[in-house]
Amino acid sequence: MKAEVTILSKTRAYNFSAGPSMLPLSVIEDVAANLTNYKGCGESVMEMSHRSAEFKEILEDAEKNLRDIMNIPENYKVMFIQGGGTLQFAMVPLNLLRKSGKADYIISGTWAKKAAKEAEKFGDIKIVASSEESTFTYIPEVKKEDFRPDADYVHITFNNTIYGTHYPYIPDTGKIPLVADMSSCILSEEIDVSRFGLIYAGVQKNIAPAGIAIAIMREDLIGFAKDDVPTYLDYKVHADNGSTYNTPNCFAIYVAGEVFKYIKDMGGVAEMHRRDVEKAKKLYDFIDGSELYKCPVREKDRSLMNVVFVTGNEELDKKFVAQAKAEGLHNLNGHRSIGGMRASIYNAMPVEGVDALIAFMEKFQEENK
Ligand SMILES: *Cc1c(COP(=O)(O)O)cnc(C)c1O
Repeated sequence: MKAEVTILSKTRAYNFSAGPSMLPLSVIEDVAANLTNYKGCGESVMEMSHRSAEFKEILEDAEKNLRDIMNIPENYKVMFIQGGGTLQFAMVPLNLLRKSGKADYIISGTWAKKAAKEAEKFGDIKIVASSEESTFTYIPEVKKEDFRPDADYVHITFNNTIYGTHYPYIPDTGKIPLVADMSSCILSEEIDVSRFGLIYAGVQKNIAPAGIAIAIMREDLIGFAKDDVPTYLDYKVHADNGSTYNTPNCFAIYVAGEVFKYIKDMGGVAEMHRRDVEKAKKLYDFIDGSELYKCPVREKDRSLMNVVFVTGNEELDKKFVAQAKAEGLHNLNGHRSIGGMRASIYNAMPVEGVDALIAFMEKFQEENK
């Protein structure tokens, strides 16, 4: 029996999940149309050899389009690596602790803390600044003099998914390579890649289904993993083999490539950013002007992607999340560690989703005076 493929576009919810999260509907529909037979080649991307001509083209196009939309300089390698953002927490120290064995970390949230904790297994890690004392409601300010001059690298988490903060500046680290986790903000703003030694991002927030991380790394930093580092964890192995040292996550790379094309066609990251600013501004303006809701994050450090808010009453917060879900506004609960609410409005969240959320928030406020 042949299954009917039904795309329930009209009954799709607005999914405010922090990740995995929404993908552009046109991309999902296009992927669905090609799911059983990719562009008439007779095979699905899920079944295809990673050494086939078809997949080679998918991979090359994905890299090329990412380079175009991010304006990645020639002396940077682009790698698609399995293990998500979390494996990068280990790969970074294993590859970049190459001289003094020291690295400096700025702690702006839970993910930054996890990254530092993992690095502590491998070297001398210093916490240069932290905003933990205020439950990470702001981004610490650091100056060049705050870093150890012989540190092998400095690590930051550019957007803090759980706390809804984002760096309003790129720290000046002088000659020390700057490493940034951009898992939850990549492709939401134009970035001068040359300011960073390494940018990495798990893809399931702004790019593709879960299963890979993208690493964008300056070439002169590649090749310093010690001999006892497992082969898969050496960036050089991925760079030298064009992300196909072993079988990659072909499907996630394929969808990522489709998303890069989608962004390119809409006018690039600048246009994406304009839309993201418009969405976030609407929501923050509403929260700031409301009587019931409050955003605890310092204004200049607010994230465009993760909007955190509370009513100040835990029971009411729970009621909000449950009622919103019943109206097709899914996953508005804050992270399990802090509670409250969080609306993740990544690139693929349409402005209509934000409008629907604000309309619900107004109604809920009226009903719970
Ligand atoms: C989600 C997230 C991670 C973890 O990603 P995984 O792919 O689940 O390992 C790391 N850093 C940030 C900033 C994140 O938002």
